[in-house]
Amino acid sequence: MTPALFDWFATRSILEWVAFSLLGNGVIFAISVWLCDWLGKRYPSRPLFAARHPLSKQDARLAGVAVLLNSAVAVVGWWLWRAGWITITHPAWWRTILDVGIFLLLMDFAMYISHRIAHDPWFYTKIHATHHTHQSTNPISLFVLSPFEVLGFGALMISVLVVVPLSGAAILIYLFLNVLFGTLGHAGVEPFPRSWSKWILVRQIGTSTFHAEHHLQPRTNYGFYTVVWDRLFGTLHPRYDAVLAGKFEP
Ligand SMILES: [Zn+2]
Ligand SMILES: [Zn+2]
Repeated sequence: MTPALFDWFATRSILEWVAFSLLGNGVIFAISVWLCDWLGKRYPSRPLFAARHPLSKQDARLAGVAVLLNSAVAVVGWWLWRAGWITITHPAWWRTILDVGIFLLLMDFAMYISHRIAHDPWFYTKIHATHHTHQSTNPISLFVLSPFEVLGFGALMISVLVVVPLSGAAILIYLFLNVLFGTLGHAGVEPFPRSWSKWILVRQIGTSTFHAEHHLQPRTNYGFYTVVWDRLFGTLHPRYDAVLAGKFEP
């Protein structure tokens, strides 16, 4: 199924791909906002913040720009693929699963490093402070970013794709997981079952609590999909595991 889908992607004209990217990113934004809202209503007993950050016109504008720039990144990625700079494979299912793991871990590490650099005072005041105007989150927080940050993430993802040939299905699964983790990180509630925190491998997954703590205490929890880099480099919030297990309030 995936090769046929990628054949369809490959045979679009540039204008058709621009339209498809805009539509796709608009739908992703709408689903992310809806899911955040739904999670807030589904788990009202497990809030991570005292109150949601208020919605503002300025933030709505920034989110709109982020959707447009994400579409532009999709167009650049598509063009690089068509021009032979990016190689997309269609291997057996097990290789696709391995590629999802490779892509997630490479991006997770690259994003951890970039996020720490983004908290350097020079980069912070010019770029990353925009996202941290939200000390508590709301359903559009994931998209309230400086345009430079949106383009930086896109450039990081495209750089990995240029260097590492990956399965087409793995790329689609990664993109889905990226939006899912981003949405969960800004949901403002913790849907992760407390009992799961006793499983050592499951405990390494980045949760809503993990990124909420970053908004509350920006000098902790720089990771996204996993907490392993924060554990390794000593930047994990000291109470993270206890909060996730329900022993402390966030
Ligand atoms: Zn955030
Ligand atoms: Zn940050």
